[in-house]
Amino acid sequence: MSNAETSRLLDGIREWVEIETPTYHAAGINELMTLVAGQFDAIGAHVERVPGRDGRGDHLSITSPWRGPKGDNSAGILVLSHLDTVHPLGTLATKLPYRVDGDKAYGPGISDMKGGAYLAYAAYRAIAADPKLQRLPIRILYTSDEEIGSPTSRALIEAAAEGAKYVLVTEAARDGGKIVTARKGVGRYDITTHGRPSHSGARHADGRSAILEMAHQIVAIEAMTDYARGITVNVGQIDGGTADNVVPQTCTAAIDLRVPTMADAADMHRRLTTLQPKTRDVTIEVSGGMNRLPYEETAAGRALFDHAKHCAREFGIDLAGVHSGGGSDGNFTAHKVATLDGLGSDGFGAHTLDEHLFVSSLVPRKMLLQRLMETLE
Ligand SMILES: [Zn+2]
Repeated sequence: MSNAETSRLLDGIREWVEIETPTYHAAGINELMTLVAGQFDAIGAHVERVPGRDGRGDHLSITSPWRGPKGDNSAGILVLSHLDTVHPLGTLATKLPYRVDGDKAYGPGISDMKGGAYLAYAAYRAIAADPKLQRLPIRILYTSDEEIGSPTSRALIEAAAEGAKYVLVTEAARDGGKIVTARKGVGRYDITTHGRPSHSGARHADGRSAILEMAHQIVAIEAMTDYARGITVNVGQIDGGTADNVVPQTCTAAIDLRVPTMADAADMHRRLTTLQPKTRDVTIEVSGGMNRLPYEETAAGRALFDHAKHCAREFGIDLAGVHSGGGSDGNFTAHKVATLDGLGSDGFGAHTLDEHLFVSSLVPRKMLLQRLMETLE
């Protein structure tokens, strides 16, 4: 592998990483979107900038100027990349500066997923430079809010997937270069218990504790986790009560649900929305639902995976697939369009202060993306 190409890729990734882009920081996201738009513009791509809303940053929709073999520019390849990160502003300066240590390159969002997002650019750049490599039309979406469930980009992603034949997602590779062929669906629920407040000394018997009721519910909800079926439920946050001497009137709990199939999603939704109170005079209110549907393996998805395996073998990589517990924007497309995920750089420690990518994975992963873009038909 060429060292010059590796350092060129790393320099490009560094430039993207050194503009901090936590999801809530629209100014930083827009600054990076401007850089990326300019880079694609310079190599002849059509760049459309979609203004952010609800305080989020802009998105970019980038399309290749070439047409498909049938002379149209639909039914092409859709690449999904997000440029927001989970790391708060200031992480780069203080806790996780960009640095390279042996085969590891560190930085906020370098693995999730600026590395992969940049590789999509690099693969596209190689194809744009050589008309012989241009086959299906390519659209790349760079979005600003994946880390919070893509509320402002979901419609854009779904609309783009309508016309696509394949979807490639540049989330980081898993466990030593594996790509992701299925992902669990993600549900988010808020549960509120409503009791009756009273003075905990003078009128204790009049009170109905919302916290006590929530304690019963937490035990019941946590018991719905079923590792054998791949279902997990996590009560991740609770909040309730006003003071130690008041029987609490309300308590809330935030719940994260992961399910492997659509049927499990429906089953768990029914169970979570029909929770029954265990204490007298207390009511339960449940809101929420599936944020990302399960990304189950389909025949079209398997054929795309087999093709990717074949491409990887050309440069000596035995590509493996894996099912992931995490959701991604691929969950919005996989039930309709053949989707492969985890096509970004290989790395470790996403969402932590140990986040890094493996430098040696950059050239092979860029080649895999490029070979997919130039061979899919
Ligand atoms: Zn990500």
